[in-house]
Amino acid sequence: MDSNGFRDAAISSIEEIIGYYDNIETRNVVSTVEPGYLRKLLPTEAPAQGEPWTDIQKDIEAKILPGITHWQHPGFHAFFPCATSYPSILGELYSAALSGACFNWICSPAVTELETIVLDWLAKLLGLPDCYLSTGPTRGGGVIQGSASEAVLTAMVAAREKYLRETVPADLDGDARDDAIAHKRSRMVALATTTTHSSTKKAAIILGVRFMAIPVRAEDNYALSGPVLAQALADCRARNLEPFFLTATLGTTDTCAVDDFAGITSALADFVPAGAPGEVWVHLDAAYAGAALVCPEVQAATNIALVAGFHSFDMNMHKWLLTNFDASCLYVRNREWFVRALTVNQAVYGNAASDGGLVTDYREWQIPLGRRFRSLKVWFVLRSYGADGLRAYIRRTTKLGEDFASWLRARPDLFEIMTGPSFALTVFRMVGKPGSSEDERNALTKTLCDAVNATGRMWVTSTVLNGRFGIRMMTGVRTTEKEHVEAAFQTLVGAAEEILKS
Ligand code: PLP
Repeated sequence: MDSNGFRDAAISSIEEIIGYYDNIETRNVVSTVEPGYLRKLLPTEAPAQGEPWTDIQKDIEAKILPGITHWQHPGFHAFFPCATSYPSILGELYSAALSGACFNWICSPAVTELETIVLDWLAKLLGLPDCYLSTGPTRGGGVIQGSASEAVLTAMVAAREKYLRETVPADLDGDARDDAIAHKRSRMVALATTTTHSSTKKAAIILGVRFMAIPVRAEDNYALSGPVLAQALADCRARNLEPFFLTATLGTTDTCAVDDFAGITSALADFVPAGAPGEVWVHLDAAYAGAALVCPEVQAATNIALVAGFHSFDMNMHKWLLTNFDASCLYVRNREWFVRALTVNQAVYGNAASDGGLVTDYREWQIPLGRRFRSLKVWFVLRSYGADGLRAYIRRTTKLGEDFASWLRARPDLFEIMTGPSFALTVFRMVGKPGSSEDERNALTKTLCDAVNATGRMWVTSTVLNGRFGIRMMTGVRTTEKEHVEAAFQTLVGAAEEILKS
């Protein structure tokens, strides 16, 4: 394909993408293909001769779109959103054009420098304390990772190395040092809760450290409280385990609960004072709900200033902040913690700029070596929407969640809210007939979930809280408007009434 061919193909592709968005409502939210559908439609070998773009493009509608679940559909109320916006798509286009493996500053200075700058912009928008700014007092800063899972793994590696540095006696060397490290590693435990995202457990598995999930309580709204953490820390000490890492969450996956940051801070201070050798590293996972921090009222309500006492913070712009996957924005209070844990030099990567020590080489802040130009789409989104536009979007979709919850409350004969509305997420279930057992309510709610999803007009997912099955209704997708949430509610009401009748 030459430049003229690219021009024609690109125009035609962009027209098709615009058409896709403009007519997305006419499609079923969830793909209905059978497993293995695509193998039946595609040849068994790659073509021997190149094909014209017009033939290739036709297969998008004919073969690919049937197998797409439409995350940008206004009836998508499942999981959390996976954002897109036109400015962000343009960022992806330029990033593809300027492709490079920009692991060192010299590999493309603009890639590194724009990332540092836009992550400072974002930190300020989110109300993060100065210690997370690249220009802040503690040499902090931000880096874009592929996912919140990569972010927690990166933080945990840094935490492990920091803990070992601080607690293994400095005068040991050789075998004695290796033995002391091996012994310590066998006692080190990463803490999370039963509602923390599974990525923390996966990081502990990858790093070969112990993992402990602290049970959270319904009376704490399924969040981690100070006393519950204090008890878990005491249990660890009694078992001679060494907690070195804790994931706290702002917006848990099941219910969007927010852990008690003040309680966590005080429980940890009683265990090992902040800043003392062997302190517990706290990573704040705000993968989804962190987007709402662009609103000052959310910063105040969540006490986000307390993150100054934590060690790392991560939020996914690609969930609820209008930026295409992948843009997980990870901040650390002191970038040396990353650099010391993750720098492995090899002669081939040496260069004068890095040796001069005046530049950031982001390969030292992440697990992969190569990295692409992800900050372009972040820059385009922040500039195109502006702080006001982002706030308006978060407030609009949060309000949709509140409207939905108020309609549920108006039908106590059918529905009961289990949690929320919290950050555009409400978890609810069917009440059933008077005297229904928990099992019967669970079965009714599951039947309702399946019934509304079978319509193809909406998609909700579910969770189980203390043995009770609930439907999660999320209203954060950019294309979702009030009329869509009303339609979803009416679908739920109609299906619930039918189920009760039968
Ligand atoms: N943390 C929370 C609170 C989440 O809800 C999710 C996914 O929904 C993740 C982490 C994992 O995100 P990622 O897919 O970016 O690894």
